[in-house]
Amino acid sequence: MGSTLRANDASAPFKVLVVGGSYGGLAAAFNLSDLCLGGAARAAAGYEGQDGLPKENTPIHAEITLVDERDGFYHVIGSPLVFADKPYAEKAWVPYSEVPALKESPNIKTVHGSVTSVDMASKTAVIQETAPAGGATRTVSFDFIIVAAGLRRAFPVIPQSGDKAAYLAEVGPHIEAVTTAQDGVLVVGGGAVGIEMAAELKLAQPNIKVTLAHSRSRLLSSEPLPDELAEKTLEILRENGVEVLLEHRLQDTRDIEGTNAKEVTFTNGHTLRVNAVVVAISNNTPSTSFLPAEALNDEGYIKIQPNLFFPTNVPNYDSALAGGDIVQWSGIKRCGRAMHQGYLSAHNCHQRMQELTFGTPAKYQILKEVIPMIAIALGPNALAFATGGELQYGKDIAERFFNDDVGFNICWKILGMGSKAETKI
Ligand SMILES: Cc1cc2nc3c(=O)[nH]c(=O)nc-3n(C[C@H](O)[C@H](O)[C@H](O)COP(=O)(O)OP(=O)(O)OC[C@H]3O[C@@H](n4cnc5c(N)ncnc54)[C@H](O)[C@@H]3O)c2cc1C
Repeated sequence: MGSTLRANDASAPFKVLVVGGSYGGLAAAFNLSDLCLGGAARAAAGYEGQDGLPKENTPIHAEITLVDERDGFYHVIGSPLVFADKPYAEKAWVPYSEVPALKESPNIKTVHGSVTSVDMASKTAVIQETAPAGGATRTVSFDFIIVAAGLRRAFPVIPQSGDKAAYLAEVGPHIEAVTTAQDGVLVVGGGAVGIEMAAELKLAQPNIKVTLAHSRSRLLSSEPLPDELAEKTLEILRENGVEVLLEHRLQDTRDIEGTNAKEVTFTNGHTLRVNAVVVAISNNTPSTSFLPAEALNDEGYIKIQPNLFFPTNVPNYDSALAGGDIVQWSGIKRCGRAMHQGYLSAHNCHQRMQELTFGTPAKYQILKEVIPMIAIALGPNALAFATGGELQYGKDIAERFFNDDVGFNICWKILGMGSKAETKI
């Protein structure tokens, strides 16, 4: 860490590139924006009593560029309801141009495009803009990069579109198919996503017969969660009217001639007649193909240090941070974890900026190990569990963790999407 201080004024702002504008990336951009404007980070109110989170700062000039392949915030955790309910689908995607806090932030701009490569030695990145955004391929330089590009997930776990109009056109036929299915809908996969898809579909469309098939003898079989949780989940699903078939591995689906129905065959010989099959299994892969290999583990996750900076073998590692689903860290991948890591990335980036500008030694926040914890939305009910604690479930848990919109407003508020940034510059 050199001894010459870096000039920082309106003509020489820190250029910060944030890759990914979902829970992790928005938390990083908004909180860094607040800190650079001289105030407390908007997330800090949720961390009362914790040391080392300043309420006031000397303003720092920064230009934060948030790049995302989508043209807006998509509420990923609402996907199970998005695919079952048109009005909710409309609500679950908010173009960045309509997010009040982005409109008001003087030091954040958004780019609709994809980051296709990053060179850490020269601190440059290539951005491929989408056609509506101009379609240009640009190489940009940065002082800091914060990577929150999450996981690639398949349809219909999440929609694949890049803009809101295309998204509504993409999910519309799916919603139509599952809401008019006289012979019922089969959801395949008894992990958290399949369970929520079956539950939300039954809630939104109570007259539709919903069947959930899972290949194993227990739901949630690939998560480090206790049997008690899996059993309670099964009980609530059945109470809500979802038929659950355990030890049913999908073998084949064929259209029944002259009808709009399908016959589904399982490897145990059981057959089922339905109108729609929703495969809620996705081999998620981290969206890190644009990053140098030395930053990644064998599965492609970023090997962050506990202070969220890149590993020390990467050139200029102290200019790059990452958070959210894309990093190698303990705990089940959750949006709360992503927002927390986004905030800490912002805090630590700002600490390093202060060190470079004023010579103040950086005081980094350090990530703690995260125990397995989960909250599952099951229509009007929900379950919540953290290892070592008690299993909680019921309507009050649904209210606390998801409210009546699968957590949309809760996340909106935690991220501070509607609040006004204070400015001292
Ligand atoms: C169906 C479903 C239900 C879920 N339910 C819950 C739940 O109930 N509770 C919970 O806590 N968690 C839930 N999760 C998990 C939660 O959604 C994730 O933990 C969370 O989305 C992680 O946020 P993130 O910001 O790290 O990444 P993501 O949300 O994956 O966002 C990554 C962003 O980066 C963008 N991007 C990717 N690559 C590039 C690139 N090269 N250039 C530009 N932009 C790029 C993407 O477009 C995306 O906007 C659920 C997940 C799914 C799929």
